[in-house]
Amino acid sequence: QPDVFTRMEEHEQVVFCNDPATGLRAIIAIHDTTLGPALGGCRMHPYETTEAALEDVLRLSRGMTQKCAAADVDFGGGKAVIIGDPQKDKSPAMFRAFGRFVASLQGRFYTGTDMGTTMEDFSHALKETECIVGVPEAYGGSGDSSIPTTAGVLNSLRAVNESLFGTTALGGRTYAVQGLGKVGGKVAAHLLDDGADVYAADLSDDALEAMSRYAEGTPGTFHRVDGDAIFAVEADVLVPCAMGGVLNDTTIPQLKVRAVVGAANNQLASREHGSWLQERGILYAPDYIVNGGGLIQVADELYGGSRERVLKKTNAIFTSIAEVISQSRLDQITTVEAADRMCEQRLQERARGNNFF
Ligand code: NAD
Repeated sequence: QPDVFTRMEEHEQVVFCNDPATGLRAIIAIHDTTLGPALGGCRMHPYETTEAALEDVLRLSRGMTQKCAAADVDFGGGKAVIIGDPQKDKSPAMFRAFGRFVASLQGRFYTGTDMGTTMEDFSHALKETECIVGVPEAYGGSGDSSIPTTAGVLNSLRAVNESLFGTTALGGRTYAVQGLGKVGGKVAAHLLDDGADVYAADLSDDALEAMSRYAEGTPGTFHRVDGDAIFAVEADVLVPCAMGGVLNDTTIPQLKVRAVVGAANNQLASREHGSWLQERGILYAPDYIVNGGGLIQVADELYGGSRERVLKKTNAIFTSIAEVISQSRLDQITTVEAADRMCEQRLQERARGNNFF
């Protein structure tokens, strides 16, 4: 078994939280606080071993450092995991205990909901610490993050359209949208408003029906697509807004698009699939930059939360995507590699030898 510091690699701090009275067993990982205090959601999952929980929290917190650098927010990477079954092991006392551990870090770590945890859980943690973000407006938070996330997707589409077609206009083009939920639904509606041709698939008939009715009052046209047939639609851009791993061995050979730009997390099944898209001449806009709007809004809560400031910052996603595209062309690397380099540079520029915390 490797030594614990070897396991931590570049992580700054790993906190094991044990509260036998409530059954809480949690791990908080602080990866990098160069840009500011660590930020990352708290996941609850019945991990089979402590080792599996540790591996997950180390991996997820590292990813948050990169996401924060890409979104250019004043936070670093962190994450928490609670070992337990979210269906049966939760209690208000457990989340209060978790809140006390977060409070003990004295502002080094901010957290909120993730898979397996809800705002109801964090309403208990909030009694112990102020370091909770992403709470509903009723609790003094900034509310629905799908609005800035949608703005980021639209700005990314504009940047990609400019580089491929010489215009930032969204209308007059064809899009294949997977998922008409909180983000995909708003993106599709905006594209229709701008006069685009939208093909869409969703598991929900109601969502498809609603969008079809919405389209009637717009200059755009709407077409329903069945399930995975969305990957074979001939369009300018594929817009994945449902699950992760959608760019894989099965889907990539089917694609008949010039670009992929969407909100879904972890779209590439592996980094190699990014190279494959490039070889096929398909421009991939890295998901963690495209979908950074929600993170920008949550991070802005630290400054009181301002809708105008958040929308202004999501406009910068246009520039980040444009920069990644031109760098990947210049250096003959994939957009994924160019995005990673951009984040690394931002961290180095901001570090100036001293961390914030
Ligand atoms: P959502 O749950 O509101 O919507 C997802 C939609 O996808 C649903 O309508 C669902 O029916 C549909 N769907 C699921 N599987 C499908 C399939 N196989 N084929 C077609 N449709 C399918 O979620 P959301 O908030 O809109 O988020 C969408 C994606 O964007 C997720 O991957 C999420 O992690 C990511 N994301 C969201 C935000 C945000 O602010 N909401 C921020 C960053 C990333």
